[in-house]
Amino acid sequence: MASITSCRFDVEALRREHPVANIVAGYGIELRPSGLTLVGRCPFHNDGGRPNLHVYPETQSWYCFRCGVGGDAIEFVKRREGIGFVEACQRLAGLQAGPTSHTALPQPMQRERRWDRLTLEEQVVMNTACALYQDSLWHEPRALAYLRERGVPDWVTRQCSLGFSDGHSLEGYLRRRSGLRAAKELGLLGRPKRDSGAMGLRELLGGRIVVPELRGGHCIWFIGRSLVDGPNSPKYLALPGERPVLGLQQVVGRREAYLCEGVFDYLTAVTWKLPAFSPCGTHLPAERLGFLARARVVYGVLDGDEAGRAAAERFGEQLGERWRPLRLPEGCDLNDLGRRPGGREEFSRLVGAGRLLARGGDSHGR
Ligand SMILES: [Zn+2]
Repeated sequence: MASITSCRFDVEALRREHPVANIVAGYGIELRPSGLTLVGRCPFHNDGGRPNLHVYPETQSWYCFRCGVGGDAIEFVKRREGIGFVEACQRLAGLQAGPTSHTALPQPMQRERRWDRLTLEEQVVMNTACALYQDSLWHEPRALAYLRERGVPDWVTRQCSLGFSDGHSLEGYLRRRSGLRAAKELGLLGRPKRDSGAMGLRELLGGRIVVPELRGGHCIWFIGRSLVDGPNSPKYLALPGERPVLGLQQVVGRREAYLCEGVFDYLTAVTWKLPAFSPCGTHLPAERLGFLARARVVYGVLDGDEAGRAAAERFGEQLGERWRPLRLPEGCDLNDLGRRPGGREEFSRLVGAGRLLARGGDSHGR
């Protein structure tokens, strides 16, 4: 084997002396704090809409949710300069240690909110919001029509406590009682946008279908889907902080689990009575996969696009032989498939093929 030239570098020291946020910012990429992370435009793809590049100062790493690539400071320099590992180390070593460390980089929040650790008051406010949203849904024909059009039957709407935020009821309700301050801290309510002319507080999820994460009958988190796809508002908006796994309770202790990329893929799987969960995206760090300890098989229901394929590879590394990515038809997610005639049967066939793969894998694995 060739000698490893990189040994000339103390890689750990390079990483220590060159915080990844400084390196990224040093390339002129503007980073803004978002919860515990920093977010900016990814230089590796045409990042025109919402910024996809996330920098995690706590783990000194970065990740682009569109490209599905990430790594440490060295990896960033490598990709940005189109050079090899050794050259990237040289480049870093040649820099003054922390040249930009004294410039005012935006600081992420010190502590990211953990949604599974709410105070009593916060929990009451979350449950209140969940109940109000549920009530609003049945009074909003547009929202009901949207859910039915996406193939979500009413019994799933009820079972999952889906709701609709009408944009004003929560503030009024909490004003008459208490919990306004907690609702603001949780991010449910915020100041209205300037020049919106709106009175009162702004409901973060106003005008959206609201999907709660339920634990032990309590609502601990929300993610909201807009009813219309427009250029000015993201399709999905979630409460800030670490995203809990959606549907976690349905898979804890189960032998089989279905990892669904999107919220509506998850709802389709629930409709089919499958033990499903969703990371609401393609990223779920290894240290948060403990709830799958008893699962022998985890089926991956990821979109048939580049990000989905990259995610499938990452989960494969984390879950090893238990991971069975299912190959959905090109350009189709599970929700799309579920709405096609014969979609459920087709999905069963895909799962069957995954099971065969499992058996093959076992015999070779010895
Ligand atoms: Zn990218």
